[in-house]
Amino acid sequence: MIDELLQGNEKFLADEFRPNAEYYHAIADRQTPKVLWIGCSDSRVSEHQMTGSKPGTMFVHRNVANIVAFNDVNISAILEYGVVHLKVEDIIVCGHTRCGGIAAIEDGVHENYIADWLCIATGAKEAADRIARERNLSREEKLAVLTEENVKLQIKHLRNLALIRNMHAKGERPRIHGWLYRVETGTIDVLVDGRATRTA
Ligand SMILES: [Zn+2]
Repeated sequence: MIDELLQGNEKFLADEFRPNAEYYHAIADRQTPKVLWIGCSDSRVSEHQMTGSKPGTMFVHRNVANIVAFNDVNISAILEYGVVHLKVEDIIVCGHTRCGGIAAIEDGVHENYIADWLCIATGAKEAADRIARERNLSREEKLAVLTEENVKLQIKHLRNLALIRNMHAKGERPRIHGWLYRVETGTIDVLVDGRATRTA
């Protein structure tokens, strides 16, 4: 597999990098992404490929189940660098179908660190449990609801972080968007429209 990856780099050089050398030399001097991406670590969810974007478009943070944690210095540093220094205009929180993290939130897991991490999405599970009871949902339907509720909860966390809250209080960007990527079809659903919810 490793050899295939290195051969892939040869193909990338021939098909993409060298034909667009001017662009790649420009971003080599300075990155100016306009978007901060918060997505899942899942191998099937490639933010640049699904959006047809070139490297340099998005500043990226990915973790299990696209979670925004209050006590996570990693995401805090990425947020600060993204919004204060790179001045990204938009943040996208993107969940996806068939997410192992979402299934683990639903089913519970015994692994220590994974269980601790997924506790941050407890509020989404409570909302999905309630909706599933009210609508008598199947497991598959409930997982879909949980995936959406998790994106909405992580956006709520994002808005409540002091850095973002204080910017929004002054009427400043970033706008925050919630997306769902469908791994079965390659399509994106917009769950939360950043224009409507910017200062909410
Ligand atoms: Zn996932």
